[in-house]
Amino acid sequence: MYPFSFTKVSDIPGALAAGRRGGRYIAGGTTLVDLMRETVERPGALVRMAEAAAHPKVRALYPVVSQALELSASAQLRNMATIGGNIMQRTRCTYFRDVTADCNKREPGSGCAALDGYNRTHAILGTSDHCVATHPSDAAVAFAALEATVDLLGPDGKERSVPFADFLLKPGSTPDHEQALRQGELITAVAIPAHPRPLKSGYLKVRDRQSYEFALTSAAVALHIRGGVIREAKVAAGGVGTVPWKLPAVERHLIGERPSKSLWTQAAEQAADGARPLEYNGFKAELLKRTVERQLRIVGGAA
Ligand code: SF4
Repeated sequence: MYPFSFTKVSDIPGALAAGRRGGRYIAGGTTLVDLMRETVERPGALVRMAEAAAHPKVRALYPVVSQALELSASAQLRNMATIGGNIMQRTRCTYFRDVTADCNKREPGSGCAALDGYNRTHAILGTSDHCVATHPSDAAVAFAALEATVDLLGPDGKERSVPFADFLLKPGSTPDHEQALRQGELITAVAIPAHPRPLKSGYLKVRDRQSYEFALTSAAVALHIRGGVIREAKVAAGGVGTVPWKLPAVERHLIGERPSKSLWTQAAEQAADGARPLEYNGFKAELLKRTVERQLRIVGGAA
């Protein structure tokens, strides 16, 4: 680990003042300290993941958020890691964490070892010729589905709100540029807009083992069904995109229809539209469709 200095602050103005002097914000530290230890990183929102998952309002109104948080990491990590840190976490691409490998995200212009390497866990959506790494957060998939916003406070005291879809950036030709954060900005909240009630929702995560593993595919689904008709549908996928992947074609297919087994199947058929599989991850396109179909059935019923 490189030497670094750690400044402890007790309030937001103190954090902003420290941010103006450069460096990175650290909250729970469960990801950032790992990356510093591996010398990948050199150098926000402080609600712990476990706290948010267990909050009665989150459980009652947005089970999709609770479930996504509870299926993340381990209990120990969830007790320490924060919501801000979770959505800001870096990719789990093994080449990114191997400082001897070529990686445009870690070392711009060096190349991408994953393109011709072992890319079974990498992305099939939102990729570029420069980077194919997935975004690892489960909670971010739920936030993307619900069209949350990220509230930011700048070092000059200016506040702004960024739609979740614009906060995490696809790699394009600059995969090292991952969020729409400006230097010194602090995440103060992740806000979920009001959705019509009742809203049924849930999160399904498919992975190689049932605990402490990142998603191969996942689906966050929220449905507002009134009078037997789907009035609002919010669907996003994880484990497949370079950012949490919203599925507007699936949503459009659902709205105005009555829940049925065939509707779930037909809607999910569009989940992998635009996918660009690599040598070892072609299975993800079919797995994604099945994941979305299953979660629509779980949330929407009508077996
Ligand atoms: Fe680096 Fe992205 Fe390539 Fe992984 S996929 S090696 S993070 S550039």
